Amino acid sequence: LYRAKAAGRGRTEVYDASMELATATTLQRELQQAVAQGELVVHYQPIVDLSDVHVVGYEALVRWQHPQRGLLLPGAFLPHIQEAGVAVALGQLVVTQVVEFLARTEDTGRWVSVNVSADQLGDGEFATRLLQELSRHRVTAGRLVVELTESSLVASGTRIRHELTQLSAAGVPILLDDFGTGVSPLQYLRDLPVAGVKLDMSFTSGIPHDPTAGRVVRALGALARELAMVTIAEGIEHEEQADFLRHNGWRYGQGWLFGAAQEVPSER
Ligand code: C2E
Ligand code: MG
Ligand code: MG
Ligand code: MG
Repeated sequence: LYRAKAAGRGRTEVYDASMELATATTLQRELQQAVAQGELVVHYQPIVDLSDVHVVGYEALVRWQHPQRGLLLPGAFLPHIQEAGVAVALGQLVVTQVVEFLARTEDTGRWVSVNVSADQLGDGEFATRLLQELSRHRVTAGRLVVELTESSLVASGTRIRHELTQLSAAGVPILLDDFGTGVSPLQYLRDLPVAGVKLDMSFTSGIPHDPTAGRVVRALGALARELAMVTIAEGIEHEEQADFLRHNGWRYGQGWLFGAAQEVPSER
């Protein structure tokens, strides 16, 4: 409990923090049930080759099929998975669903990238479990791709580094997500086994009209290519953005122009 001066003259109002706590606790309990009851599902957003717009892979994006509130996006529940104690379990169920998807679609050769948080990597078993699932389902390691944001790497110790090296050595490509928004991306590109970058959509939304955004996008693409990294741009909504990107060396793209995430992914 803390006391707050209410708007009213000289009146002191008692704010009951346990109210908020109750809601947070409910959400945590609901999340634990959701994990146990299979309410968390993976949707797939197509990633296309910008040269001819054919689908080369998908990004796996988790959703919560909430019994009362409908389909919830990660922003509504990911911030609570750590306190709910389900971060590792969520990561595992995403990997399990994706590996099963990959096994079913072996003939297409398409890859699926999975978002991984530092909490999941810090558990120390992530790489080992993932590689075991891949081999159990006879899925080629390169068809599963791991996406990490720079912010999740900031506090990365030697253990996370070890996990990433283990994955990369086994043929699982690592992508740096939300590229361009972090504080020290160059350090990560130099020090970690990064196979490619995903341009943050805040840059994509600036092109082609904002000349500075355009120059930054061009320079980031050149940097990635200089390092022999794969280039993927996120958040492409308009044809002019796709044009700018393909003419400035960005190889792959993703965004509503090509399709949103769906439970059963689009073929194209
Ligand atoms: P992200 O990895 O940067 O994923 C891209 C986000 O942009 C997704 O939001 C996607 O639906 C959205 N998006 C795609 N195309 C467009 C577009 O053209 N325009 C706009 N405005 N948005 C677009 P979503 O699904 O809400 O996911 C948000 C974030 O949640 C992801 O950002 C990722 O960091 C995280 N996330 C999603 N699934 C998982 C997961 O399984 N595990 C973990 N640890 N994080 C996840
Ligand atoms: Mg991502
Ligand atoms: Mg991203
Ligand atoms: Mg993002």
